[in-house]
Amino acid sequence: MPIIVVLGAGVSGLTSALQLAKQGNHQITVIAKHMPGDYDIEYTSPWAGANVLPMSLNKDSRYERRTWPVLRRLVTEAPEAGIHIQTARVLRREKDIAAGQVKAALSDGLFDQNPWYKEVMDNFRELSPSELPPGMHSGCEFMSVCINTAIYLPWLLGQCAKLGVHFKRAVLSHISEATSMSHTGKNADIIINASGLLACKLGGVMDKKVYPARGQIVLVRNEASGAMPTTSGTDDGDDEILYVMQRALGGGTILGGTYAKNNWDGNPDPNIAVRIMKRAVEAHPELTEGKGIEGFSIIRHGVGLRPCREGGVRIEKEKIGDTTWVVHNYGHAGWGYQGSYGCAERVVELVDEIVNEKGSKAKL
Ligand code: FAD
Repeated sequence: MPIIVVLGAGVSGLTSALQLAKQGNHQITVIAKHMPGDYDIEYTSPWAGANVLPMSLNKDSRYERRTWPVLRRLVTEAPEAGIHIQTARVLRREKDIAAGQVKAALSDGLFDQNPWYKEVMDNFRELSPSELPPGMHSGCEFMSVCINTAIYLPWLLGQCAKLGVHFKRAVLSHISEATSMSHTGKNADIIINASGLLACKLGGVMDKKVYPARGQIVLVRNEASGAMPTTSGTDDGDDEILYVMQRALGGGTILGGTYAKNNWDGNPDPNIAVRIMKRAVEAHPELTEGKGIEGFSIIRHGVGLRPCREGGVRIEKEKIGDTTWVVHNYGHAGWGYQGSYGCAERVVELVDEIVNEKGSKAKL
Protein backbone atom coordinates (compact mmCIF):
# COMPACT_ATOMS: atom_id res chain seq x y z
CA MET A 1 0.00 0.00 0.00
CA PRO A 2 1.59 3.34 -1.02
CA ILE A 3 2.24 5.61 1.94
CA ILE A 4 1.05 9.18 1.42
CA VAL A 5 1.56 12.28 3.57
CA VAL A 6 -0.68 15.25 2.77
CA LEU A 7 0.77 18.59 3.91
CA GLY A 8 -2.11 20.97 4.65
CA ALA A 9 -5.59 20.70 6.16
CA GLY A 10 -7.31 23.47 4.21
CA VAL A 11 -9.95 22.67 1.62
CA SER A 12 -7.25 21.60 -0.90
CA GLY A 13 -5.44 19.18 1.41
CA LEU A 14 -8.60 17.71 2.93
CA THR A 15 -10.32 17.19 -0.44
CA SER A 16 -7.17 15.60 -1.88
CA ALA A 17 -6.92 13.29 1.17
CA LEU A 18 -10.60 12.37 0.88
CA GLN A 19 -10.49 11.53 -2.83
CA LEU A 20 -7.29 9.48 -2.33
CA ALA A 21 -8.79 7.69 0.69
CA LYS A 22 -11.86 6.74 -1.38
CA GLN A 23 -9.56 4.67 -3.58
CA GLY A 24 -8.94 2.44 -0.56
CA ASN A 25 -5.36 1.51 -1.47
CA HIS A 26 -3.26 4.13 0.33
CA GLN A 27 -2.16 4.77 3.90
CA ILE A 28 -2.70 8.49 4.39
CA THR A 29 -1.56 10.95 7.06
CA VAL A 30 -2.51 14.64 6.97
CA ILE A 31 0.07 16.95 8.58
CA ALA A 32 -0.73 20.61 9.26
CA LYS A 33 0.06 23.60 11.39
CA HIS A 34 -3.63 24.62 11.23
CA MET A 35 -6.64 22.33 11.34
CA PRO A 36 -10.42 22.86 10.97
CA GLY A 37 -11.64 24.89 13.94
CA ASP A 38 -8.63 27.25 13.85
CA TYR A 39 -8.82 30.87 12.69
CA ASP A 40 -5.45 32.25 11.63
CA ILE A 41 -4.12 34.57 8.95
CA GLU A 42 -1.90 31.71 7.68
CA TYR A 43 -4.97 29.49 7.17
CA THR A 44 -7.18 30.76 4.34
CA SER A 45 -9.96 28.19 4.11
CA PRO A 46 -12.12 29.18 7.13
CA TRP A 47 -12.35 32.80 5.90
CA ALA A 48 -13.94 32.04 2.53
CA GLY A 49 -17.61 32.90 1.88
CA ALA A 50 -17.82 30.40 0.30
CA ASN A 51 -19.86 30.10 -2.84
CA VAL A 52 -19.49 29.09 -6.50
CA LEU A 53 -18.83 31.97 -8.88
CA PRO A 54 -16.86 30.43 -11.79
CA MET A 55 -13.66 32.41 -12.39
CA SER A 56 -11.53 30.51 -14.86
CA LEU A 57 -10.37 32.42 -17.93
CA ASN A 58 -9.97 29.11 -19.73
CA LYS A 59 -13.27 27.69 -20.92
CA ASP A 60 -11.78 24.20 -21.03
CA SER A 61 -10.55 24.28 -17.45
CA ARG A 62 -11.81 21.13 -15.77
CA TYR A 63 -11.35 22.15 -12.16
CA GLU A 64 -14.49 24.23 -11.68
CA ARG A 65 -16.50 22.24 -14.23
CA ARG A 66 -15.85 18.98 -12.38
CA THR A 67 -16.46 20.43 -8.91
CA TRP A 68 -19.89 21.97 -9.44
CA PRO A 69 -21.83 18.67 -9.83
CA VAL A 70 -20.22 17.30 -6.64
CA LEU A 71 -21.08 20.34 -4.51
CA ARG A 72 -24.62 20.42 -5.88
CA ARG A 73 -25.02 16.71 -5.05
CA LEU A 74 -23.72 17.19 -1.49
CA VAL A 75 -26.54 19.66 -0.82
CA THR A 76 -29.06 16.83 -0.86
CA GLU A 77 -26.90 13.77 -0.14
CA ALA A 78 -25.06 15.23 2.87
CA PRO A 79 -27.09 18.06 4.45
CA GLU A 80 -24.75 17.84 7.49
CA ALA A 81 -21.89 19.14 5.28
CA GLY A 82 -23.25 22.69 5.59
CA ILE A 83 -23.89 23.48 1.92
CA HIS A 84 -27.14 24.93 0.60
CA ILE A 85 -28.45 26.14 -2.73
CA GLN A 86 -28.42 29.89 -3.34
CA THR A 87 -28.99 31.84 -6.54
CA ALA A 88 -25.96 33.88 -7.62
CA ARG A 89 -26.36 37.21 -9.39
CA VAL A 90 -23.35 38.62 -11.30
CA LEU A 91 -23.66 42.31 -12.19
CA ARG A 92 -21.46 44.06 -14.76
CA ARG A 93 -21.11 47.80 -14.20
CA GLU A 94 -21.14 50.28 -17.10
CA LYS A 95 -17.95 51.81 -15.66
CA ASP A 96 -16.02 48.55 -15.76
CA ILE A 97 -16.53 47.94 -19.46
CA ALA A 98 -13.83 49.10 -21.87
CA ALA A 99 -13.62 48.04 -25.54
CA GLY A 100 -16.38 45.49 -24.97
CA GLN A 101 -14.47 43.74 -22.13
CA VAL A 102 -15.32 43.79 -18.43
CA LYS A 103 -12.37 44.54 -16.14
CA ALA A 104 -12.94 43.29 -12.60
CA ALA A 105 -10.78 42.99 -9.48
CA LEU A 106 -12.16 39.59 -8.52
CA SER A 107 -12.03 37.86 -11.91
CA ASP A 108 -12.49 38.87 -15.53
CA GLY A 109 -13.72 35.33 -16.29
CA LEU A 110 -16.70 35.65 -13.92
CA PHE A 111 -17.90 38.90 -15.52
CA ASP A 112 -17.42 37.87 -19.16
CA GLN A 113 -20.42 38.92 -21.22
CA ASN A 114 -20.61 35.53 -22.91
CA PRO A 115 -19.31 33.29 -20.11
CA TRP A 116 -18.20 29.68 -20.71
CA TYR A 117 -19.99 28.64 -17.53
CA LYS A 118 -23.44 29.37 -18.91
CA GLU A 119 -23.46 25.76 -20.16
CA VAL A 120 -22.32 24.40 -16.80
CA MET A 121 -24.30 26.24 -14.14
CA ASP A 122 -27.94 25.24 -13.73
CA ASN A 123 -30.71 27.74 -14.49
CA PHE A 124 -28.32 30.22 -16.11
CA ARG A 125 -30.04 33.26 -17.60
CA GLU A 126 -29.13 36.80 -18.59
CA LEU A 127 -31.02 39.43 -16.62
CA SER A 128 -33.46 41.70 -18.41
CA PRO A 129 -32.75 45.47 -18.31
CA SER A 130 -35.66 45.97 -15.88
CA GLU A 131 -33.94 43.68 -13.35
CA LEU A 132 -30.69 45.66 -13.28
CA PRO A 133 -29.84 48.10 -10.46
CA PRO A 134 -28.85 51.63 -11.59
CA GLY A 135 -25.39 51.89 -13.16
CA MET A 136 -25.30 48.27 -14.30
CA HIS A 137 -24.70 47.46 -17.95
CA SER A 138 -25.88 43.85 -17.74
CA GLY A 139 -25.91 40.81 -15.51
CA CYS A 140 -26.69 37.13 -15.20
CA GLU A 141 -28.12 34.75 -12.67
CA PHE A 142 -27.60 31.02 -12.03
CA MET A 143 -27.95 28.32 -9.41
CA SER A 144 -25.03 28.27 -7.00
CA VAL A 145 -24.35 27.12 -3.45
CA CYS A 146 -23.11 28.72 -0.27
CA ILE A 147 -20.82 26.65 1.94
CA ASN A 148 -20.68 27.20 5.68
CA THR A 149 -16.92 26.68 6.02
CA ALA A 150 -17.15 26.34 9.82
CA ILE A 151 -19.25 23.19 9.24
CA TYR A 152 -17.81 21.98 5.94
CA LEU A 153 -14.10 21.79 6.90
CA PRO A 154 -14.77 19.63 10.01
CA TRP A 155 -17.16 17.54 7.87
CA LEU A 156 -14.38 16.92 5.31
CA LEU A 157 -12.01 15.95 8.15
CA GLY A 158 -14.65 13.55 9.53
CA GLN A 159 -15.15 11.93 6.09
CA CYS A 160 -11.39 11.38 5.87
CA ALA A 161 -11.21 9.95 9.41
CA LYS A 162 -14.04 7.52 8.58
CA LEU A 163 -11.92 6.18 5.72
CA GLY A 164 -8.87 5.68 7.95
CA VAL A 165 -6.92 8.89 7.32
CA HIS A 166 -4.71 9.93 10.26
CA PHE A 167 -4.14 13.56 11.36
CA LYS A 168 -1.13 15.15 13.05
CA ARG A 169 -0.15 18.70 13.93
CA ALA A 170 3.34 19.75 12.86
CA VAL A 171 5.13 22.79 11.47
CA LEU A 172 7.49 21.97 8.62
CA SER A 173 10.33 24.18 7.52
CA HIS A 174 11.18 21.96 4.51
CA ILE A 175 8.89 19.82 2.34
CA SER A 176 11.21 16.81 2.71
CA GLU A 177 10.45 16.66 6.47
CA ALA A 178 7.04 15.27 5.53
CA THR A 179 8.73 12.08 4.32
CA SER A 180 9.21 10.81 7.88
CA MET A 181 5.82 11.90 9.23
CA SER A 182 3.54 9.06 8.22
CA HIS A 183 1.56 7.48 11.09
CA THR A 184 2.83 4.12 9.82
CA GLY A 185 6.37 4.93 11.01
CA LYS A 186 7.64 4.19 7.48
CA ASN A 187 8.87 6.74 4.95
CA ALA A 188 6.26 8.28 2.65
CA ASP A 189 6.31 7.34 -1.03
CA ILE A 190 4.35 10.43 -2.03
CA ILE A 191 3.83 13.85 -0.41
CA ILE A 192 0.85 15.98 -1.44
CA ASN A 193 1.82 19.64 -1.05
CA ALA A 194 -1.38 21.56 -0.24
CA SER A 195 0.31 24.31 1.77
CA GLY A 196 -1.65 27.19 0.16
CA LEU A 197 -0.10 30.62 0.48
CA LEU A 198 2.76 29.30 2.62
CA ALA A 199 4.14 27.47 -0.45
CA CYS A 200 6.09 30.70 -0.97
CA LYS A 201 7.90 30.23 2.36
CA LEU A 202 8.26 26.44 2.57
CA GLY A 203 11.81 25.13 2.15
CA GLY A 204 12.23 22.99 -0.97
CA VAL A 205 9.30 24.81 -2.65
CA MET A 206 9.81 28.57 -2.04
CA ASP A 207 7.52 29.41 -4.94
CA LYS A 208 8.12 33.10 -5.68
CA LYS A 209 5.12 33.20 -8.00
CA VAL A 210 2.78 32.85 -5.01
CA TYR A 211 1.35 36.02 -3.49
CA PRO A 212 -1.68 36.98 -1.34
CA ALA A 213 -4.87 38.77 -2.33
CA ARG A 214 -6.19 40.08 0.97
CA GLY A 215 -9.90 39.65 1.56
CA GLN A 216 -11.63 41.46 4.41
CA ILE A 217 -15.12 40.34 5.46
CA VAL A 218 -17.81 41.04 8.05
CA LEU A 219 -19.86 38.09 9.32
CA VAL A 220 -23.30 39.16 10.60
CA ARG A 221 -26.36 37.52 12.12
CA ASN A 222 -28.72 39.46 9.81
CA GLU A 223 -30.27 37.43 7.03
CA ALA A 224 -30.32 38.37 3.36
CA SER A 225 -33.15 37.38 1.09
CA GLY A 226 -32.99 36.80 -2.65
CA ALA A 227 -29.97 36.14 -4.81
CA MET A 228 -26.30 36.51 -3.71
CA PRO A 229 -25.09 39.60 -5.60
CA THR A 230 -21.57 40.40 -6.75
CA THR A 231 -20.57 43.38 -8.88
CA SER A 232 -17.61 43.86 -11.23
CA GLY A 233 -16.45 46.90 -9.24
CA THR A 234 -17.35 49.47 -6.61
CA ASP A 235 -16.86 53.22 -6.27
CA ASP A 236 -14.65 52.65 -3.22
CA GLY A 237 -11.40 51.78 -5.00
CA ASP A 238 -9.97 49.20 -7.38
CA ASP A 239 -9.41 46.52 -4.75
CA GLU A 240 -12.79 46.87 -3.02
CA ILE A 241 -15.54 44.50 -4.13
CA LEU A 242 -19.12 43.67 -3.18
CA TYR A 243 -20.62 40.32 -2.37
CA VAL A 244 -23.22 38.99 0.06
CA MET A 245 -23.62 35.28 0.92
CA GLN A 246 -25.97 33.70 3.39
CA ARG A 247 -24.36 30.59 4.87
CA ALA A 248 -26.19 27.33 5.49
CA LEU A 249 -27.23 25.95 8.91
CA GLY A 250 -27.36 29.25 10.80
CA GLY A 251 -23.85 30.25 9.73
CA GLY A 252 -24.76 33.93 9.39
CA THR A 253 -24.24 36.16 6.37
CA ILE A 254 -20.84 37.01 4.92
CA LEU A 255 -20.45 40.59 3.66
CA GLY A 256 -17.47 41.17 1.41
CA GLY A 257 -15.08 42.40 0.60
CA THR A 258 -11.71 43.31 -0.78
CA TYR A 259 -9.21 41.82 -3.24
CA ALA A 260 -5.94 43.56 -2.39
CA LYS A 261 -2.98 41.97 -4.14
CA ASN A 262 0.32 41.62 -2.26
CA ASN A 263 -1.23 42.92 0.94
CA TRP A 264 -0.30 40.67 3.92
CA ASP A 265 -2.09 42.69 6.64
CA GLY A 266 -4.02 40.30 8.87
CA ASN A 267 -5.87 42.98 10.86
CA PRO A 268 -9.37 44.07 9.85
CA ASP A 269 -9.36 47.75 8.85
CA PRO A 270 -12.36 49.52 10.54
CA ASN A 271 -12.78 51.99 7.66
CA ILE A 272 -12.94 49.18 5.12
CA ALA A 273 -15.43 47.35 7.38
CA VAL A 274 -17.76 50.37 7.33
CA ARG A 275 -17.55 50.58 3.54
CA ILE A 276 -18.25 46.85 3.21
CA MET A 277 -21.37 47.17 5.38
CA LYS A 278 -22.57 50.29 3.53
CA ARG A 279 -22.27 48.57 0.17
CA ALA A 280 -24.09 45.50 1.48
CA VAL A 281 -27.00 47.53 2.84
CA GLU A 282 -27.30 49.40 -0.44
CA ALA A 283 -27.53 46.10 -2.34
CA HIS A 284 -29.74 44.40 0.28
CA PRO A 285 -31.66 47.03 2.33
CA GLU A 286 -33.70 44.23 3.93
CA LEU A 287 -30.56 43.03 5.75
CA THR A 288 -31.09 45.65 8.47
CA GLU A 289 -34.77 46.37 7.79
CA GLY A 290 -34.00 49.91 6.66
CA LYS A 291 -31.88 50.76 9.74
CA GLY A 292 -28.63 51.26 7.79
CA ILE A 293 -25.36 49.79 9.01
CA GLU A 294 -26.31 50.44 12.67
CA GLY A 295 -28.82 47.62 12.24
CA PHE A 296 -26.12 44.98 11.79
CA SER A 297 -25.52 42.40 14.50
CA ILE A 298 -21.84 41.53 13.98
CA ILE A 299 -20.49 38.07 14.74
CA ARG A 300 -16.94 38.78 13.66
CA HIS A 301 -14.68 40.89 11.44
CA GLY A 302 -12.15 38.86 9.52
CA VAL A 303 -9.32 38.84 7.02
CA GLY A 304 -8.16 35.96 4.85
CA LEU A 305 -5.33 35.84 2.32
CA ARG A 306 -6.23 34.20 -0.98
CA PRO A 307 -3.31 32.08 -2.23
CA CYS A 308 -2.76 33.54 -5.73
CA ARG A 309 -0.07 32.41 -8.14
CA GLU A 310 1.29 34.06 -11.30
CA GLY A 311 0.41 31.67 -14.13
CA GLY A 312 -2.30 30.00 -12.06
CA VAL A 313 -2.65 26.98 -9.82
CA ARG A 314 0.23 24.48 -9.56
CA ILE A 315 -0.91 20.86 -9.85
CA GLU A 316 2.01 18.72 -10.97
CA LYS A 317 4.35 16.00 -9.78
CA GLU A 318 7.99 16.49 -8.89
CA LYS A 319 10.61 14.00 -7.68
CA ILE A 320 12.58 14.96 -4.59
CA GLY A 321 15.45 12.74 -3.51
CA ASP A 322 15.86 9.23 -4.90
CA THR A 323 12.50 7.71 -4.08
CA THR A 324 10.04 10.37 -2.90
CA TRP A 325 7.57 12.21 -5.11
CA VAL A 326 5.69 15.40 -4.38
CA VAL A 327 2.33 16.19 -5.98
CA HIS A 328 1.71 19.92 -5.67
CA ASN A 329 -1.81 21.29 -5.28
CA TYR A 330 -1.64 24.97 -4.31
CA GLY A 331 -2.28 28.48 -5.63
CA HIS A 332 -6.09 28.43 -5.94
CA ALA A 333 -6.59 32.18 -5.37
CA GLY A 334 -10.32 32.89 -4.84
CA TRP A 335 -11.67 29.58 -6.17
CA GLY A 336 -10.27 26.93 -3.80
CA TYR A 337 -13.70 25.53 -2.83
CA GLN A 338 -15.37 25.76 -6.22
CA GLY A 339 -12.42 23.95 -7.82
CA SER A 340 -11.63 21.57 -4.96
CA TYR A 341 -12.98 18.29 -6.37
CA GLY A 342 -11.65 18.92 -9.89
CA CYS A 343 -8.19 19.64 -8.49
CA ALA A 344 -8.27 16.63 -6.15
CA GLU A 345 -9.27 14.46 -9.12
CA ARG A 346 -6.09 15.59 -10.91
CA VAL A 347 -4.05 14.87 -7.76
CA VAL A 348 -5.43 11.30 -7.74
CA GLU A 349 -4.46 10.88 -11.42
CA LEU A 350 -0.90 12.05 -10.73
CA VAL A 351 -0.62 9.73 -7.72
CA ASP A 352 -1.85 6.85 -9.90
CA GLU A 353 0.79 7.69 -12.52
CA ILE A 354 3.54 7.63 -9.87
CA VAL A 355 2.30 4.39 -8.31
CA ASN A 356 2.01 2.69 -11.72
CA GLU A 357 5.47 3.89 -12.74
CA LYS A 358 6.97 2.68 -9.44
CA GLY A 359 5.12 -0.64 -9.80
CA SER A 360 6.41 -1.30 -13.34
CA LYS A 361 9.99 -0.38 -12.31
CA ALA A 362 9.79 -2.76 -9.32
CA LYS A 363 8.83 -5.61 -11.71
CA LEU A 364 11.91 -5.07 -13.94
P1 FAD B 1 -5.22 26.90 3.28
O1 FAD B 1 -6.64 26.87 3.65
O2 FAD B 1 -4.45 28.14 3.63
O3 FAD B 1 -4.53 25.66 3.97
C1 FAD B 1 -3.13 25.50 3.99
C2 FAD B 1 -2.78 24.40 4.96
O4 FAD B 1 -1.38 24.13 4.88
C3 FAD B 1 -3.05 24.75 6.42
O5 FAD B 1 -3.52 23.63 7.12
C4 FAD B 1 -1.67 25.15 6.94
O6 FAD B 1 -1.53 24.99 8.35
C5 FAD B 1 -0.82 24.15 6.19
N1 FAD B 1 0.58 24.53 6.09
C6 FAD B 1 1.13 25.41 5.22
N2 FAD B 1 2.46 25.46 5.41
C7 FAD B 1 2.75 24.61 6.40
C8 FAD B 1 3.96 24.21 7.05
N3 FAD B 1 5.13 24.72 6.68
N4 FAD B 1 3.89 23.29 8.05
C9 FAD B 1 2.70 22.76 8.41
N5 FAD B 1 1.52 23.11 7.83
C10 FAD B 1 1.56 24.01 6.85
N6 FAD B 1 -13.04 30.16 -2.70
C11 FAD B 1 -14.16 29.69 -3.28
O7 FAD B 1 -14.14 28.65 -3.94
N7 FAD B 1 -15.35 30.36 -3.17
C12 FAD B 1 -15.45 31.53 -2.44
O8 FAD B 1 -16.54 32.10 -2.33
C13 FAD B 1 -14.28 32.02 -1.83
N8 FAD B 1 -14.33 33.18 -1.12
C14 FAD B 1 -13.20 33.62 -0.47
C15 FAD B 1 -13.29 34.77 0.31
C16 FAD B 1 -12.18 35.20 1.04
C17 FAD B 1 -12.29 36.42 1.90
C18 FAD B 1 -10.97 34.47 0.97
C19 FAD B 1 -9.77 34.91 1.77
C20 FAD B 1 -10.87 33.35 0.17
C21 FAD B 1 -11.97 32.92 -0.58
N9 FAD B 1 -11.92 31.78 -1.40
C22 FAD B 1 -13.06 31.30 -1.98
C23 FAD B 1 -10.63 31.12 -1.70
C24 FAD B 1 -10.40 29.90 -0.85
O9 FAD B 1 -10.65 30.20 0.50
C25 FAD B 1 -8.94 29.44 -1.03
O10 FAD B 1 -8.65 29.24 -2.40
C26 FAD B 1 -8.72 28.12 -0.29
O11 FAD B 1 -9.18 28.21 1.03
C27 FAD B 1 -7.25 27.71 -0.29
O12 FAD B 1 -7.19 26.51 0.46
P2 FAD B 1 -5.84 25.74 0.69
O13 FAD B 1 -6.20 24.46 1.33
O14 FAD B 1 -5.06 25.69 -0.59
O15 FAD B 1 -5.00 26.66 1.70
